[in-house]
Amino acid sequence: MQRKTKTSFLELVPLLHPHIRRLGWGILFMVIYVSCWPVLAWLAGQLIPSIGEGNLTKVFNVVSISLLVFLIQKVAQFLQDILLAAPALRVSQELRKQLFFKLQRLELSSLEKLSSGDITYRLTEDADRVGEVVYKTIQDTTPSLMQLIAVFGYMLWLDINLSIATVLLTPLVAILVSMFGSKVLKAAENSQKQVSDLAALIVEAIQGIPLVRAYAAERWLEDRFEEEINLHREAKYKNLSLLALQHPVVGFIEAAGILAVLIIGAVRIKTGELNTEGFSSYVAALLMLIDPISHLTSNFNELKQGQASLERLKEIENRPKEPLDLKNPTSIGRIEGHIEFKNISFSYKEGLPVINNLSLKIKAGEVVALVGSSGAGKSTLFSLLLRFYTTNKGIILLDGNDINTIKSKEMRRQIGLVPQQINMFSGSIAEAIRIGRKLSDSEIIEAAKIANAHEFIMKLPQGYSTLLQERGTNLSGGQLQRIAIARAVLGNPSLLLLDEATSALDAEAEASVQVGLKQAMKNRTVIIIAHRLATVQEADLIVVMHNGTIIDSGTHNDLLRREGAYKELCERQMIKDFPTN
Ligand code: ADP
Repeated sequence: MQRKTKTSFLELVPLLHPHIRRLGWGILFMVIYVSCWPVLAWLAGQLIPSIGEGNLTKVFNVVSISLLVFLIQKVAQFLQDILLAAPALRVSQELRKQLFFKLQRLELSSLEKLSSGDITYRLTEDADRVGEVVYKTIQDTTPSLMQLIAVFGYMLWLDINLSIATVLLTPLVAILVSMFGSKVLKAAENSQKQVSDLAALIVEAIQGIPLVRAYAAERWLEDRFEEEINLHREAKYKNLSLLALQHPVVGFIEAAGILAVLIIGAVRIKTGELNTEGFSSYVAALLMLIDPISHLTSNFNELKQGQASLERLKEIENRPKEPLDLKNPTSIGRIEGHIEFKNISFSYKEGLPVINNLSLKIKAGEVVALVGSSGAGKSTLFSLLLRFYTTNKGIILLDGNDINTIKSKEMRRQIGLVPQQINMFSGSIAEAIRIGRKLSDSEIIEAAKIANAHEFIMKLPQGYSTLLQERGTNLSGGQLQRIAIARAVLGNPSLLLLDEATSALDAEAEASVQVGLKQAMKNRTVIIIAHRLATVQEADLIVVMHNGTIIDSGTHNDLLRREGAYKELCERQMIKDFPTN
């Protein structure tokens, strides 16, 4: 995926705003914690020569004061950590929340380009890594940087010339770190991409287990998996090798620097420009720089790795949102159910039209059956009516209103949909029917009765409280279909969109689903993608689709008489004859 703009962690700063007070207190204790370092360096300067002189009283006094300073410092560190941890964690939580919310509102076509494994990886691992960077930056990088400044400031005050000599060694370390940094970022990006490919394959593999078993394709999938984990290992290895090289190289330069400072210091003591106490303090301070420098180096690497994650998160955030309602959308109240598709055209991908200049009028209360070969565009009409996608040409009118001008939520709430692919969230059956709507238990039972599902639900061990396993695998296909029908009729929608996907069901299950469907269709406008003779025979209007257009329409008898595509469809058994009682 191409990156448009570089994303920076600074963009996350506004997320800290609500926690400014806590942060303020945290920073105050951070200042106390950091200020203790130069004091301790000064105390070390007092202590070391006293040890050499054997002045035990001074040693005892200095040690006692040092102990007190250490105590103050550690208490301040605790308060700093505890005060800063909460805002840091909240920022990463907020980030994850924003992303999940964005996901709910993404334009479908844009979402479909990402695999579910990839999205899962981004929302878990990538979000975690970004959270970790935010946490480290607040909790570790900031105090380390302050420690560096405070201690180095003290060193400057002690001996400016020696400090300049020390500083001259710093650019070398900085160049090395940033050189490694960009390499580490590249390697991290690559390694993260491999993990998300791996996640995508795992999701596919889990969903496809029955398929793989049926085709005895275990070996094939294992080989694919092995290829993926090899790529993942190689990418990760490259990342780790870089880190493995970076630490000793930077460490060696640091050690050489310290030794050089010791030599310069010895010369300056000899020429009388520095006394032993000052030099001892200087060396103690110098040693106090090692820790923050090593923290800053490793945090810099994490920042670079986190940058790759942040960009992957932003990549989702920058995807287009589903088209918003107009500024002042019309409230349509209760839908009557007049629908008109007026010269509509639509394509998912440019240049590949799926609906071609299609027009269709449906009166309120009518049952319209859509028939036609697979790929004719029947489900796409549902998606367009629900405004999942926007037509490229033409308009869709609902009770005379252009659907693009009305409140989409209000409209969707009054449309019941039974799609071909039935999704279930884990939870109870009642929740699966309710799917977040604030409706009473008795309304749920009523809907289940209409869908011919109440009886089997009552026979389950916990009735409506029975928990559905992931994707509803503890129910049969027919039972799931009936729950989907109950879900669609709950709230008494004016308009019902049904995909009569019963081909995978056995005769008995199919019969129960048909009963549910028939009851669900009463007293509303219904558009049904039909596969059964029984359904089409009862429809007020049958619409025959082919390649995104309507090639014929009429009642069953009209169409049969015409000896056209419909008759051919019936003969080719695309519309199966099946008794419905
Ligand atoms: P039907 O319901 O009649 O079988 P669809 O409306 O599902 O037909 O599909 C019509 C055409 O649009 C098919 O060629 C299909 O491959 C394509 N199509 C359907 N959904 C998508 C999508 N989300 N993205 C891209 N192409 C799609």
